[in-house]
Amino acid sequence: MLTIEHSKSKYEQAKKHLAGGVASSLRASMKPMPLYAESAQGARLRDVDGNEYIDYLLGFGPLILGHANEELTNSILAAMRKGYTYGLQHDGEIELADLLVDILPCADRVALSGSGTEAVMLALRLARAHTGKHKIVRFTGHYHGWSDSIFTSFPGAGLSESVTSEEASSVVPPGTMGQSVNSLNDIILLPWNDPDVLESTLRSHASEIAAVISEPVMCNSGCIVPKPGYLELMRQLTEELGIVFILDEVITGFRLAQGGAHERFGIKPDLVTIGKAMGGGIAISAVAGKAELMKYIDTSAVSHLGTLNGNGVATAAALATIRELAKNNGSSYRRMEELLVSLSTGIRVLLHKHNIPGVVNQIGPVFHMMFINEHEVNDFDTFNKRDAGKYAKFAELMLSEGVLLRPNGLWYVSTAHEQADIDETLLAIDRVLGQLD
Ligand code: PLP
Repeated sequence: MLTIEHSKSKYEQAKKHLAGGVASSLRASMKPMPLYAESAQGARLRDVDGNEYIDYLLGFGPLILGHANEELTNSILAAMRKGYTYGLQHDGEIELADLLVDILPCADRVALSGSGTEAVMLALRLARAHTGKHKIVRFTGHYHGWSDSIFTSFPGAGLSESVTSEEASSVVPPGTMGQSVNSLNDIILLPWNDPDVLESTLRSHASEIAAVISEPVMCNSGCIVPKPGYLELMRQLTEELGIVFILDEVITGFRLAQGGAHERFGIKPDLVTIGKAMGGGIAISAVAGKAELMKYIDTSAVSHLGTLNGNGVATAAALATIRELAKNNGSSYRRMEELLVSLSTGIRVLLHKHNIPGVVNQIGPVFHMMFINEHEVNDFDTFNKRDAGKYAKFAELMLSEGVLLRPNGLWYVSTAHEQADIDETLLAIDRVLGQLD
């Protein structure tokens, strides 16, 4: 039984003056309640009640080196001792831009921002400036941050395989109260992984469409990989029709490979957005891509703003994280993948043992686990059939076993995780599955 008395009283205290009691709405969804961290090191996090967890939440993705990695911490502290932010330029920006261009296959040039949301805003702006067009194609089940011009709720399985482009574009529900419905007038929402709908929509609306934006793997809804040829088709059609192709690699950048998913899949988009793992837990993001698009920033024809953009602490964090990941020819990616293969395989065996229907979709150091009466989950409609309540219960029970999970099913692993953590986690899962009805 989990003791969380101190977390409880802190949450009550927080709710008095901190709106919602948490600093980002999603964190409120944690069951039995949002917990308070006391400290964290490597793959382990300790809460204010003294409970210790093996951490697979990893700050919602950024902590690819685990918590308080020594090299990263030292680099951040060294940068802080020289001042945090200058409002002037400094070497860290140049070094980081050079490194990103070196590593990311699609990058001629880069721009630095503070969050994934901002990077997406900039990428869309560059696409519109370049094409002189206004519509943006995005996909159901993908998430591209919470700015008004792109944030939609996922209307369940509303978009079927047979959706027409007209139907698709007319059902774009706002993601939140307070968002003008008009802010989504330029969005065409399509089902993902459907080559026919993609092709017919792009061909019939090519004169209006500035960009197609897609997660390369649908990490935000089931960790679903693209069908063979799907991203290639996206690349080929956008090129043919004068549409900018943006891959949103905020999750997959520096996670699926050093050069992100576009390196792993051998696809060259026009622009990528990266964030999360790039900074190892410090706020930084980037847009990277073709010179002919990035050039609009040169003259400020496209405004790219942000008081803290490229600050010395953030660039030092990104440089240290990327260099750590690059050590030994990127062997940490192979290690993280091996660990998650052993974990996801172990989970499938345990689901079978307990006779609980479920699916684990894994790629590289990330996977999605769901309770569902299907053998495979390859599209958003099927993903929506999962028992989300049962998974939230599972995640809650796992806390009592000393394992911290994101309540929606997405698991991350870091370079700090060891096989012993995986073995301990599998024993915990075995016990918890035994308690689930
Ligand atoms: N794009 C993707 C694919 C994401 O998963 C996220 C966040 O989860 C974002 C953009 C927004 O990033 P941020 O939360 O840093 O604004």
